[in-house]
Amino acid sequence: MQSLTNRSRVVVRKEMTFAEKIYIPAILAGLRITLKHFFKKSVTVRYPEEKRPFSAVYRGQHVLKRDEYGAECCTACGLCAVACPAEAITMVAAEREPGEEKLYREEKYAAIYEINMLRCIFCGLCEDACPKEAIFLTDRLVPAFNERGDFIYGKDKLVEPVDARIDISKRQTDAVKEFKTHKELRHNRLKEDLD
Ligand code: SF4
Ligand code: SF4
Repeated sequence: MQSLTNRSRVVVRKEMTFAEKIYIPAILAGLRITLKHFFKKSVTVRYPEEKRPFSAVYRGQHVLKRDEYGAECCTACGLCAVACPAEAITMVAAEREPGEEKLYREEKYAAIYEINMLRCIFCGLCEDACPKEAIFLTDRLVPAFNERGDFIYGKDKLVEPVDARIDISKRQTDAVKEFKTHKELRHNRLKEDLD
């Protein structure tokens, strides 16, 4: 017979003692462990009544930003979709019509913009790729749903309301804020800087 290793172990079949037969020592040892954990501080929280504070750089539900006049910043360039490793973003671009300048900041805008939250891994690469500072991840949680279709977030859920802007400055660390002051980096420039 072929042996795989040279290790061997002698099996000892010794008689169980009376204490072992009635399981009292084993039960007491188990109770001791239970009691030890009983008086320890619990590591779990009673979510959703109780919530842990989020990290300042937590990445949650996206927001499509509007500019200071309320126009949508996204120009449907597609860079966020190209950067997305999960292929979670789809969009359909459209040309801005005369008279729609107050709705869309650029001549091209996203008529449809969808993120599949079941695919999204909240990596933040779409935010990094965006040259228009149009998409950001926020500290909002994406809730659980029963239907898969409910996880497809369209513009109705992604574009921030005109009268209830989403503050994304909380997520910007001092290092990021400092980095964004470097206007020699093209992706840090606003449209006004480029004109
Ligand atoms: S956070 Fe990452 S995975 Fe989610 S949509 Fe953006 S790039 Fe894709
Ligand atoms: S969110 Fe930014 S990167 Fe994505 S399509 Fe709009 S402008 Fe382009």
